[in-house]
Amino acid sequence: MNTASAPDTVERTLEIIRKRTPAYGELTDRFGSLFTASAKVCDEVATKGVAVPEVDPARVSSGVPVLVGFDFGLWREAFALSAERLIPVLCEALELEDTAAKELAAVFSDADTILGLVRARIEGDLQHFENTSLHFDATPSAVLLFALETVCSPVLRAAVQSMGESLSSLSWDEGHCPACGSTPSISQLSPKEFTDLDQLVGGGGKKFLHCSLCGHDWRFKRNACPSCGNDDSETREIFYVDDVRFEHIEACHKCGRYCLNIDMREFEPRPDLDALQMGLIHLDVHAQENRLSPLTATLWNTVE
Ligand SMILES: [Zn+2]
Ligand SMILES: [Zn+2]
Repeated sequence: MNTASAPDTVERTLEIIRKRTPAYGELTDRFGSLFTASAKVCDEVATKGVAVPEVDPARVSSGVPVLVGFDFGLWREAFALSAERLIPVLCEALELEDTAAKELAAVFSDADTILGLVRARIEGDLQHFENTSLHFDATPSAVLLFALETVCSPVLRAAVQSMGESLSSLSWDEGHCPACGSTPSISQLSPKEFTDLDQLVGGGGKKFLHCSLCGHDWRFKRNACPSCGNDDSETREIFYVDDVRFEHIEACHKCGRYCLNIDMREFEPRPDLDALQMGLIHLDVHAQENRLSPLTATLWNTVE
């Protein structure tokens, strides 16, 4: 399944958020341009064509995500293009001071640095971000990581979308992404399926996890915790806020984690799942008031 983040889908999603919750207007104004710019980079990279690895089902079924060990040097130019386009927009959204913005732009003007950070991110080597940030005065490792993920994401999304069927047909039961190994930022119940002639062929409602980095959506057991695999209904709980049923919190009291869930059967056309999360902060607040922590930390669920 593919929730492609084309620029117009992002714009429409921002509009949904503004309309439903005017209190999020300022936030969507501030970060909306970053989502739109990212979707444009993804389109641009996809149009130019991106080399993708051969998907080896045997390797994946032994638990190794497709992009682990991939030669990211093949995407050097795509990362450089993404950095050039997105770092200035990111600096504006984060309201960085002039010195910090110039430094971040300098860090991301070097393709070798970007490639080193991409490899470290995919291998889960967060120490590399700490070490790299020590070389700079105004770039803490958290900003470096967020900037890298911002630059990395549209390139990975373009690659994952072009892998198509070879990726979506894999059998994979894990709570992290079969493409890039990242944890999900949200889950969804799939939309109803129609043929080209508008005939309903499937009622939807299958559960998919949505990768926080590459945007890949993979099928997951509906009644299990994506963090620890717990499927005991006694220790799992669903929370609703303001009685809204199509957006809820799925909590696991065994590991103390939660993941938000969106029922896509209630949305037509489909929204952009990454941008949509900006409009769900009240759910994150509610979960964290119940002493739960997010499965994946994002800018929206990291309450200060
Ligand atoms: Zn992924
Ligand atoms: Zn759990």
